[in-house]
Amino acid sequence: MNDQKKITVLQLYPRDMNIYGDWGNTLVLKRRLQWHGYEPHLIEYNPGDAFPDDVDIIVGGGGQDSGQDIIQQDLLSISPRLHDLAEADVPMLMICGLYQLFGKFFKTQDGHVIEGIGLLDIETHAGPERLAGNIITESHDFGTIIGYENHSGQTFLGKGLKPLGTVKRGAGNNGQDATEGVRYRNIIATYLHGSLLPKNPAIADFLIEKAAMRKYGEFTPTVIDDRFASLAREVALKRPR
Ligand code: GLN
Repeated sequence: MNDQKKITVLQLYPRDMNIYGDWGNTLVLKRRLQWHGYEPHLIEYNPGDAFPDDVDIIVGGGGQDSGQDIIQQDLLSISPRLHDLAEADVPMLMICGLYQLFGKFFKTQDGHVIEGIGLLDIETHAGPERLAGNIITESHDFGTIIGYENHSGQTFLGKGLKPLGTVKRGAGNNGQDATEGVRYRNIIATYLHGSLLPKNPAIADFLIEKAAMRKYGEFTPTVIDDRFASLAREVALKRPR
């Protein structure tokens, strides 16, 4: 039994980086952790907070350019911690605005550069139009991934960095090379809001499994009735771009 096994989920910058339903990712992790027999412990980190010592999963959302400006200095200040945790294979999910800032920089529409923590070998340049709409990608590890994107940034991956998937409908990283997101160590970074995890529970379980294995050396999944997730996926697949 996994009874009372605690898993701590840290939400980065929920005040400033949490749009298009991204908070739903944390709620899905909480509920699926419970279903799998763990005790979820949710904590938030906002600028100026003390960074917690004990973290098992880190989640970050999207934000307006202005939100990215607000958190930038603080993000740079916790960069060494985030690098250490990433290299220690802590699972992380970074959406859109924080995905961009886990990279080298985001150069915005008005030309200013928001420096990132360079954990991912990517750079992002605002393009002439917003890339917005429903998006479907195919991935090796998670099958079809469904979500919604809305970003001006066009992200380009350094050589050797693996995308999360290949875009079937929508823009993805940059609207040009059909890549979407990044897979690096146990980090999943993606442009997909929606929120992502309610319609893509396989990704939630991946994060939970990695966290459980790191902390407890084992993971015995419960079989979860995902019929509502399946229905949501069916509907989302039929929606226009
Ligand atoms: N501000 C960034 C952009 O427009 C990120 C947007 C988002 O997180 N949805 O590209």
